[in-house]
Amino acid sequence: MPAADAPFRFDLLARSAEARAGRFSTPHGPLHTPAFMPVGTHGAVKAMTPEQVRATGAEMLLANTYHLALRPGEGLVAKLGGLHRFVRWDGPILTDSGGFQVFSLPNKEIADSGVRFRNEVDGSAMELTPERSIEIQNALGADVIMAFDECTPYPAEPAVVRAGVRRTLAWLERCVRAHARPESQALFGIVQGGVDLELRAECARAVVAMDLPGVAIGGVSVGEGHELMCRVTEAVAPLLPADRPRYLMGVGLPEDLLAAIGYGMDMFDCVIPTRYARSGAVFTRRGRIRLTHRRYRRDAYPIDTSCGCAACAAGFSRAYLHHLFAANEVLSAILASIHNVHFYEALMREAREAVLAGRFAQWRTGFLAEYAGEAEAP
Ligand SMILES: [Zn+2]
Repeated sequence: MPAADAPFRFDLLARSAEARAGRFSTPHGPLHTPAFMPVGTHGAVKAMTPEQVRATGAEMLLANTYHLALRPGEGLVAKLGGLHRFVRWDGPILTDSGGFQVFSLPNKEIADSGVRFRNEVDGSAMELTPERSIEIQNALGADVIMAFDECTPYPAEPAVVRAGVRRTLAWLERCVRAHARPESQALFGIVQGGVDLELRAECARAVVAMDLPGVAIGGVSVGEGHELMCRVTEAVAPLLPADRPRYLMGVGLPEDLLAAIGYGMDMFDCVIPTRYARSGAVFTRRGRIRLTHRRYRRDAYPIDTSCGCAACAAGFSRAYLHHLFAANEVLSAILASIHNVHFYEALMREAREAVLAGRFAQWRTGFLAEYAGEAEAP
């Protein structure tokens, strides 16, 4: 357990079966877990101001290293005072390693040294290596930075998954050596291994042996589906240190998050709430609804009568939102994004309270029963 004055410290406050409630201290304030981090790909949560994000209850933001390195460039961000100052968010920030984005590119070349690819902005040849990823993340200055790993696709041949784990572990050692600011930035390692539980366990043990301030499960939410995601998380979570935050990357829908909390995961990020919002899909206590559906054309109720978000509290009706989407008004994305991010943050707060009260499983059963009530086909 790190000392009380350490810049990064995780206090496990309560457990309800495997579910955890904790407090992760960072140089920019605490993160109360379980926690959902809204995604600010280019340093902005799409269609929301930092104040609007903060008002949802979100404490920590995620920003994408790959996108920020391409534009505006980490050197400019550093020159303008670092990422917190640049994006006007004084709470904790996490940057990913850029690995997920470059592995999603069509024409990349993977080697033990790193990944070569074409810059999407100007077409030039580039290489991302563990050292380069950490150099960019050190310059951006987020509180939590992620190791550069190989995210294998799903499905993948066993040999490909095995090679990905070997590289992920070798690259993790290089990331640790390259990390120039461990006193102000916590480097999290990432467990890979596809859906092979033995390989996952092997990778988890090797990552845990590095004694890092936090550990993530990566390579999930890549098309394997809810069942396999659950199986991997259930197998890996117990292998992770109890006194460090555990981050499940890129997951997911409300039911995915609640399953993962039940396995003992603490931190989450996903583009789903904001991406869905921009297409008119919003989350309610009684399931997901699509505001663009004609059934809402005359609906005078807010998105969710039990919601306290700025959009619902202000009384914007489903009919008005339906109209805004039909008219392609920017306000449709703003209001729906505020609502969806608030929904995710409220879900995490309730889950946390349930863990603190020692009744997470009962609470989740009740939530999911109501949530299944009125769900529409997407
Ligand atoms: Zn709302």
